[in-house]
Amino acid sequence: QAKDAGRSNFRVFTDDMLHNANNRLMIEQDIGIAINERQLTLFLQPIVALKDGHIKGFEALIRWFHPSRGLIMPGNFIPHIEESDAIIKVGNYVLAEAVEILKRLRLQGWDDIYIAVNLSAKHYLTPGLGDYIKRLLASAMVPPQSLLLEVTEESVIEQVDEAMEVMRELKLLGLRIAIDDFGTGYSSLSYLKQLPFDVLKIDRCFTAGVLDNGADTHIVTTVIDLAHHLGRTVVAEGIETELQSEFLDSAGCELAQGYLYSKPISEAKTLDILMAISASRLWPKGADTILL
Ligand code: C2E
Ligand code: MG
Ligand code: MG
Ligand code: MG
Repeated sequence: QAKDAGRSNFRVFTDDMLHNANNRLMIEQDIGIAINERQLTLFLQPIVALKDGHIKGFEALIRWFHPSRGLIMPGNFIPHIEESDAIIKVGNYVLAEAVEILKRLRLQGWDDIYIAVNLSAKHYLTPGLGDYIKRLLASAMVPPQSLLLEVTEESVIEQVDEAMEVMRELKLLGLRIAIDDFGTGYSSLSYLKQLPFDVLKIDRCFTAGVLDNGADTHIVTTVIDLAHHLGRTVVAEGIETELQSEFLDSAGCELAQGYLYSKPISEAKTLDILMAISASRLWPKGADTILL
């Protein structure tokens, strides 16, 4: 894992080491230091158009390079701070960093590439988020359509009225919204119709079995059709093989993200690859393995 992240000398800090309350408290305290000392970094994973392989955007995925504990993956610290105020600090930091990356992309002429950012429920339900994002975008001169805010289906369903109100407010600012990990949150179809989102991301656990010609195949094609009837765009998460991408393309899915195209990589590597492909916009498969 640490090697995937590009720093092979980092030890991976595992989940069981973080389980007890002491550790949780330690993480909450360390987060403040981590932000100030810039130990938190956004890696980027490409989101590619299935029909022509063009790069459309990137999902920002947080990595914590802890000076003594090594690389901590988001799954090993985000869930531990999601109920505390630390998630708001981290979330605001991630938004600010994402807007800075967008600003740098625009300076290189990539002004139609978007960045998707993950938001935890406690963060997006805190008043003032819209104003905060508006200010970030204005001072970086980045248009709101460049930012895609990902909220998980599960988090929305837990507090659907509140979530819907926030989503409406964010949409009014011109921001785009994605429902992440779709299929794992058991939302009813009537909610789906009412929620003001732009993009639906089909969870990896369904795309994994898409070629088996069983339930997953039918779930995925049905979800794609349903999203299109509602006028939404679909991203398939976790695409690892050529055959998966061909199937999803033929099923009408517009966008894909997964190891087939690249694991999440650093901003520097991302910019190098964009520079290399330039106007063709053709994202090279397995970009994380390419030496530039
Ligand atoms: P997610 O938003 O569903 O992100 C997709 C996860 O799937 C990422 O894991 C990504 O590396 C992984 N992935 C992408 N393609 C493939 C593939 O083809 N195969 C496999 N096996 N995995 C793939 P990562 O980076 O470890 O992030 C895990 C989760 O942590 C994210 O799931 C998201 O829920 C959360 N997260 C990450 N960054 C942030 C953040 O900045 N804020 C918040 N609140 N949550 C974050
Ligand atoms: Mg996500
Ligand atoms: Mg997801
Ligand atoms: Mg997922």
